[in-house]
Amino acid sequence: MLAGGDGLLHEGGWRVVRADVTVRDGRIAAIGPGAALRKHQEGERGGRSGPGPRVRDCSGCLVMPGLIQAHVHLCQTLFRGLADDLPLEDWLVRRIWPLEAAHTEETVYASALLGAAELLLGGTTAILDMETVRHTDAAFRALERIGIRATAGKCLMDAHPEGAPLALAESTDTALADAEALAERWHGGAGGRLRVCFAPRFVPSCSGPLLRATSDLAERFDAQLHTHAAETIVERETVLRTTGLDEIAYLDSVGIAGPRAVLAHCVWVDLHEMNRLARQGTNVAHCPSSNLKLASGIAKVPELLAAGCRVAIGADAAPCNNRLDAFAEMRLAALVQKPRLGADALPAAQVLELATLGGAHALGLDAEIGSIAPGKRADLVVLDLREPHLHPLLGDPVSLVVYAACASDVRDVVVDGRPVVLGHELVTAPVDAIVREGDRCAAELHRLARLT
Ligand SMILES: [Zn+2]
Repeated sequence: MLAGGDGLLHEGGWRVVRADVTVRDGRIAAIGPGAALRKHQEGERGGRSGPGPRVRDCSGCLVMPGLIQAHVHLCQTLFRGLADDLPLEDWLVRRIWPLEAAHTEETVYASALLGAAELLLGGTTAILDMETVRHTDAAFRALERIGIRATAGKCLMDAHPEGAPLALAESTDTALADAEALAERWHGGAGGRLRVCFAPRFVPSCSGPLLRATSDLAERFDAQLHTHAAETIVERETVLRTTGLDEIAYLDSVGIAGPRAVLAHCVWVDLHEMNRLARQGTNVAHCPSSNLKLASGIAKVPELLAAGCRVAIGADAAPCNNRLDAFAEMRLAALVQKPRLGADALPAAQVLELATLGGAHALGLDAEIGSIAPGKRADLVVLDLREPHLHPLLGDPVSLVVYAACASDVRDVVVDGRPVVLGHELVTAPVDAIVREGDRCAAELHRLARLT
């Protein structure tokens, strides 16, 4: 039980109540009136002991739903700092693809652990992850070990975009067979905490038959589809030239649309495409830091929301961000719209909805996660409110979370009712060893990739 803190509930809008959150069998069993901590302390003072519930004192803290990032690449965590200040196309050709091609089972495992450790310590409890072409089993083993909720998929690419190393090329059949085998092994694993998505990289690297078959596989496995779309003007023009259609219409024509589909970025979509996305119920994963750093543009999130689109948030990846920090993404998501549309554009409450309920929807798990409610999975974050930058506490707690809080304010994290971070420490794996192994594997990759 998380007792004595303020609980951030969502009932139509955000509401803060003094609450004890009781967790049983991985789910939220009850949200009590906030008296349990006092009773527990009185019981201890009175010398009573027994097998009662385990109580975690959360006084002075805010208990909030775990944050959800609907677009990350854990396989790129080891590339942090190796691909700065490049536009997307050079970033891929000169850095990311050679580094991904150099990955081994060992380096993918180390990369996933390092990224997931950063995510959990910063209050992200669930992710939609696109891995690289090979060794995705190793990423799943890391995710299984560290305890994050993850929907992950191997990157599918059967067309050979200009500049991509041959080591990343796969035939359509091999790519699909590998993705299917991963789904057989991991979909629904770790008590449902791990799920598989089908993840074609983006239209320029995928054939039409691959995209169509991917959509069929997602249907068959009841899984999500995860791809990039309309990230840069170059991509938009390439897709228009090669397919004769705008990107959203083309994706629709091959079955990448609807509530199963999560399209990262959607920076370069017009109003017509926004309306199409809304009609389909397709999810958009907004990645503001990545879009700024790669100079891709600013996604028109208020317009997407006004059109009725489903929007979630993601940090994308370490070489294009360079943090995997949901608090930084929320703050930036709000700020970046304001010079264009006014100070009231994308207010804090709406941004927090994108990072919780929006993410849950993108993962196809809106009945299971995304808010603190009885019956939902217990994916919870305890935010320590002691630091000076969070004071005074007079204002709106939602404003505090979106505009003032940092990843380092996260004290405890629970996923599926299991504590994974306690007192700012990861408890499922040793951080020192994860960092050491990450450094060693990154040096190895750097050597193998022969970057120019
Ligand atoms: Zn991405």
